[in-house]
Amino acid sequence: MIRVKWVAILFAMAMAFCGVGARAQQTGKPVKLEVDLREAARRVYHSKMEFPVTPGALTLVYPKWIPGEHSPSGPIVDVTGVKLFANGKEVIWRRNTVDMYAFECEVPAGAETLEATLDYLLPVESGTAGVPSASAQLAELPWNLVVLYPKEAKSDDVKFSAKLRIPAGWKFATALPVTKESSDGIEFETVSLTTLVDSPVLTGEHMNTYDLSPGQRPAHRLNTAADSSAMAEATPEEITALRQLVAETGVLFGARHYRHYDFLLALTDHLQPNGLEHHESSDNRVPERTLHDADILETQMDLLPHEFFHSWNGKYRRPAGLATPNYREPMRDELLWVYEGLTQYYGVILAARSGFWKPEGLREYLAATFATLNDRPGRTWRDLEDTAIAAQLLYGARTAGTSWRRPVDYYEESELIWLDVDTLIREKTNGKKSLDDFCRAFHGGEGSEPKVIPYSLDDVVATLHGIAPHDWKTFFQERVRGHGPGAPLNGLERSGWKITYSTVMNEHQKAVEEAEHVVDAEFSLGFSAHYPGGDNADEIADVVVGSPASKAGLAAGMKMVAVNGRKWTPDILREAIRAAKSKKEPIELLVENDDFFQTVKIDFHEGERYPHLEAIGGKTDVLGAIAKAKAPPVK
Ligand SMILES: [Zn+2]
Repeated sequence: MIRVKWVAILFAMAMAFCGVGARAQQTGKPVKLEVDLREAARRVYHSKMEFPVTPGALTLVYPKWIPGEHSPSGPIVDVTGVKLFANGKEVIWRRNTVDMYAFECEVPAGAETLEATLDYLLPVESGTAGVPSASAQLAELPWNLVVLYPKEAKSDDVKFSAKLRIPAGWKFATALPVTKESSDGIEFETVSLTTLVDSPVLTGEHMNTYDLSPGQRPAHRLNTAADSSAMAEATPEEITALRQLVAETGVLFGARHYRHYDFLLALTDHLQPNGLEHHESSDNRVPERTLHDADILETQMDLLPHEFFHSWNGKYRRPAGLATPNYREPMRDELLWVYEGLTQYYGVILAARSGFWKPEGLREYLAATFATLNDRPGRTWRDLEDTAIAAQLLYGARTAGTSWRRPVDYYEESELIWLDVDTLIREKTNGKKSLDDFCRAFHGGEGSEPKVIPYSLDDVVATLHGIAPHDWKTFFQERVRGHGPGAPLNGLERSGWKITYSTVMNEHQKAVEEAEHVVDAEFSLGFSAHYPGGDNADEIADVVVGSPASKAGLAAGMKMVAVNGRKWTPDILREAIRAAKSKKEPIELLVENDDFFQTVKIDFHEGERYPHLEAIGGKTDVLGAIAKAKAPPVK
């Protein structure tokens, strides 16, 4: 998964489980599954399952811990219309009183099959009940939304034969092999529940498919679906960059662990921007204009490289605590700074190697990211490892309070940690080895079909030691369990760069502002606020604890009304910050707090401050070398 910056993902959280010792019913036959998406635009998916059973107690469960979401986020609250039938009669079920995901029943004598129906109601906006998966023009089907399975079964062992109906005139794409396609529906190869859940379907009226490795095996495709046909078209430059990305991963790993790879890209403003990794595909959701708006694209630059990298790091190699046998066993998230963190680092680096980012663009992104981390007061009480252990809580956290709570920092801060590792390996081996050698050793090997090889931190440390001997265990402990002050910037310095501040706006920050309508005064006054008009209008998004704004009494959730007596706009705020440089008077913000107005006086006279990277004199540009393409340019 990739981190979403401004819009909090709120997952339904259900508590605990235990369960009566119900017998799993598996006779070796597959579960027949029929899913109907013809009412996707009305935000309902219909599902019918036929389980091979033997008489006796049976518990069917709904997937709870969703791979890649690292959380008990299965949206059980919107599972409706649950009915069971056997021998032509309805079978009464009762929910387990502790495990909300478990439906218990008694299969009657003589029954060989049990039919189950359910309707999944899709939310139209993110909230307490999961995230939207359909717009009026397209739909994503993560199969875990519409299936039940026998409680004791391992997801590798239980097989599903799925059939899907989609709205008339809609196209579809998925990594799941199709066996038959007719006006009656699409039939898929019988696969394990693991593979089914790992192979979502993207469907929509306006879809395009692009070949990303023409004439080569395995095949790589970009499948787009958008709310309008023009926005489903990728530009030639974007296709070239994605072809280069495929080539770069070939050079990096030397092996692939999939039969083919499908990027599924939903372009709509009605889904939550996100990416979810799978072995042979990825479920990517971005704003509708992403492929045709430079500012929006800048905010999504590393999305596809990130999710693609996960096929090796996260899917093929996975921390043992995340390689669970089904969707009931809780995941242990403490190594997410490797699973997500290394992916985050390479997502960014591969975006640069593929040509999405030019060297200056990459540096502006890194400056904005690293400066934010360096200023984040939450590290004084919460270490980075705790942001991983508590991921199942933090994915649902709201934006307000971010600087003090610390969000899922194992994404961005791991860019620093793995840059540190990369530059240290290069230094210790006089440039002969790099983190790329680790990836080839750890994630490469023999090409294969999808499979999972679990690992521990000791395995990571041992592989690194084989490339460049060092006390890597202590190295990581200092970084993931440290409390600052400041972010671990050693790798940045070793890469030849340091953070500096100027009055010139950072280009990445500027693009994010334009795309997301949030004014960022974090490095001067110490807060960010939603633009007037639009979503969350005028609201203070977050205030950095200890900043001038925080000391003056500003808090997240208040609404900006005026700056120095004039109705506020982002430009008026910026002008006030500039003007205060030559004045003694504080900047006065008129804010609304519930039904009351108050003036917040911020005594700040240093002017606008925006972060950039500056070359350290006399040092080699190692960052530039890391970000340079390693594969020959694709044609
Ligand atoms: Zn991820």
